[in-house]
Amino acid sequence: MRKRMIAGNWKMNETYSEGVVLAQGLAKELADGTGDVDVVVCPPAVDLKGVAEVIEHEDAPFALGAQNVYWEEKGAYTGETAPDMLTNIGATYCIIGHSERRGYFHETDEEINKKAKALMAHGIVPISCCGESLEVREAGKHVEFVVDQIKKDTEGLEITDPAKYVIAYEPIWAIGTGKTATADDAQEVIGAIRATLKEIFGDEVADGIRILYGGSAKPENIAGFLTKEDVDGALVGGASLKAESFAAMVKASM
Ligand code: PEP
Repeated sequence: MRKRMIAGNWKMNETYSEGVVLAQGLAKELADGTGDVDVVVCPPAVDLKGVAEVIEHEDAPFALGAQNVYWEEKGAYTGETAPDMLTNIGATYCIIGHSERRGYFHETDEEINKKAKALMAHGIVPISCCGESLEVREAGKHVEFVVDQIKKDTEGLEITDPAKYVIAYEPIWAIGTGKTATADDAQEVIGAIRATLKEIFGDEVADGIRILYGGSAKPENIAGFLTKEDVDGALVGGASLKAESFAAMVKASM
């Protein structure tokens, strides 16, 4: 039985002090616990320390995730963050392969694969994103496009504990647009992702890997996605920036 997960991607929002206030608000909203749902908050890199302190001081029921990582251990990589720096600050998850990084920063599947390996070597759980553009969807090639991303992104990964690798299917046309995929759209692709994982890792591991939906997910529509057998939760952008709405999504998943 897979544990549901709701993960918040703050993207490039919230200064350090705003991030602390948002994390405190979320700790308050979730003070009664999150039941069987794993909750992850992924602030900008400069906010990580502040949110880590809130989690510790308030005993908050959510984990800390980063939004990006570099695969080298250390050295002359100006502007980058090493996996060890993330573990040292208390991050246990890290988003990789977000469509904004693939698009604006030209990240390739090969780089995303290297990031996954580096994170896993340091005990950080990747939340590895995939998803098609509107053009690919309209051409009816979305399933084959995403399956190809999954094969490349997972190449050579050794997954023994399925809880240590998370996938987020985020159709690009539904991110930040208010235009959501239907629950059936999500299940079609997420089901194909799970079938691909079964071919690569075998049934037992594939059945344990959480696959989230992302793209304008909000309190009003989360329940619909969760009715689908392969959808294990959501990666949430906009709606994670308000403690009440993010907490409402967690509660709707419990
Ligand atoms: C995201 O960027 O990961 C995302 C899902 O954003 P939004 O919820 O705002 O569409």
